Amino acid sequence: MLPSGDILRPAYRDLYSGLIRLHLLYHAAKEPIFGLQMIEELARHGYKVSPGTLYPVLHAMERKGLLRSQQGRGPNDRRVYRATAEGRRALGMAKQRVRELFSELFEDVLLRRPVRHGHKEEAP
Ligand SMILES: [Zn+2]
Repeated sequence: MLPSGDILRPAYRDLYSGLIRLHLLYHAAKEPIFGLQMIEELARHGYKVSPGTLYPVLHAMERKGLLRSQQGRGPNDRRVYRATAEGRRALGMAKQRVRELFSELFEDVLLRRPVRHGHKEEAP
């Protein structure tokens, strides 16, 4: 569990808004998602997001063609969201950028990792 107090600072919101959208897109590409489930999922990752914040984000992503929603049927009849083909494409491109950013942010950690030698290089 990550510390979540910082998400409440308005000054940090912009920094995390893209990360939250990528989380949503990632999960919607894997399986149909719904709002409450994503609020819990995001909280698990340290993002405290209220329904009043999350639903407008989901709606905006749908308007932009990244998600498609469907009103569920049955007793719960909650609205479920899935990634569209364009949403999947966007996710694929974002993943490359996240990888870039990740390797830059954690360059020091990655460099410190012990290098595994093959059998040939091992001392006799
Ligand atoms: Zn997640």
